[in-house]
Amino acid sequence: MNTLANRAIDPQDEEALLDMISKWVEGEVRPIVKQYDHADEWPAHLVDQMAELGLFGATVGQEYGGLGLPASTYAKLVMKISAAWMSITGIFNSHLMLALAIEKFGTQAQKELWLPKLASGELRGGLALTEPDAGTDLQGLRMTARRDGDDYVINGTKTWITNGINGHVFALLVKTDPAANPRHKGMSLFIADKREGFSVSRKLEKLGYKAIDSAEMVFEDYRVPASHLIGEVEGQGFYQATGGLELGRINVASRGVGIAEGALQLALDYAQMRKTFGKPISEHQAIQLKLGEMATRAQAARLLTLDAAARFDRGERVDMEAGMAKYFASEAALENSTESMRIHGAYGYSKEYDIERLYRDAPLTCIGEGTNEMQRIIISKQLVARSQGR
Ligand SMILES: Cc1cc2nc3c(=O)[nH]c(=O)nc-3n(C[C@H](O)[C@H](O)[C@H](O)COP(=O)(O)OP(=O)(O)OC[C@H]3O[C@@H](n4cnc5c(N)ncnc54)[C@H](O)[C@@H]3O)c2cc1C
Repeated sequence: MNTLANRAIDPQDEEALLDMISKWVEGEVRPIVKQYDHADEWPAHLVDQMAELGLFGATVGQEYGGLGLPASTYAKLVMKISAAWMSITGIFNSHLMLALAIEKFGTQAQKELWLPKLASGELRGGLALTEPDAGTDLQGLRMTARRDGDDYVINGTKTWITNGINGHVFALLVKTDPAANPRHKGMSLFIADKREGFSVSRKLEKLGYKAIDSAEMVFEDYRVPASHLIGEVEGQGFYQATGGLELGRINVASRGVGIAEGALQLALDYAQMRKTFGKPISEHQAIQLKLGEMATRAQAARLLTLDAAARFDRGERVDMEAGMAKYFASEAALENSTESMRIHGAYGYSKEYDIERLYRDAPLTCIGEGTNEMQRIIISKQLVARSQGR
């Protein structure tokens, strides 16, 4: 079931929202991005502004205080912000995956308790699936939760968790029955807030995606009441954790579109300003070929992503379409940022110009929400299944 299906927004309201986001990006984000990215500093004041803009509740239902946006509007909003600074979209995107798991699979009491605080940004968080020995193969994870009276006691380590340091609460995937066969039937998803037994062991240093924290977390005899088990049923965790992946992939695709378009814009501006052999480099055919390819890639990525989002909004199954959008848009981000850097010549290699940030940020979109190797496998499997009418 897609809890976001059949949502609609008045086109004028959508335009007003996107206009407000554009003004925020140009007025508040762009002027400080270089400073915070290079210092790898968490932009606390931007996070407060994001809460005021409603971004922490962007896809949360209005009955819980969210904006209740359809995926199409959400995608456009993420594209706009990512064109300036992709990192900061992770501060609310990972958080919204946690909120989605609760809204989609939680009990009514869990929704009423957690969603209003998540939507307002009073509590922020993310999704904690990956472990040191298990990323793509999530069913191989080792973290366990053992029932003890009215509580569960959780032990293990998670890694690469976005918002791990600055966030307050996470959807935590664990094994409640490590011997289950098939393995996914022994997995459960918990709402894990920071309390005794939950510590952040280290901040991970990264190539790009700066200013947002990625952390390793350790759980040692971490005890939570059984009411923190999402849906209050064991064995549903794998299904619940992957239940948000379609929207998650539309989100990463949108980040890719933003980077691909941002890199194109930087290249376009630079190519008209920089002169060699008596004319702007935009008049040299080698540069024209690059710009033509970059523009086509960015537009194709945008259309694939908006198509997947529109289908998602109509309640269709979109694992293949979201996979295609995520795969294509993230590769477009990688290629456009590389080509834009080359168009900048030596200045593309300088930390004084913005393109080096896009070049460092783009590869993450090829890894997050399922690597691009896995996306192609998913697309192919769906092609076969659909051709057989399944
Ligand atoms: C900056 C950053 C932020 C992240 N944020 C989060 C987060 O908030 N929460 C979270 O839970 N995780 C997060 N992750 C982790 C991310 O989801 C994983 O890195 C990703 O799922 C890949 O897992 P892995 O790194 O263990 O690679 P592996 O699974 O070890 O894969 C290694 C390589 O093998 C390939 N491969 C693996 N299996 C197959 C197969 N069956 N067929 C073909 N190829 C295969 C992969 O495509 C990849 O190329 C983050 C990662 C990064 C870098």
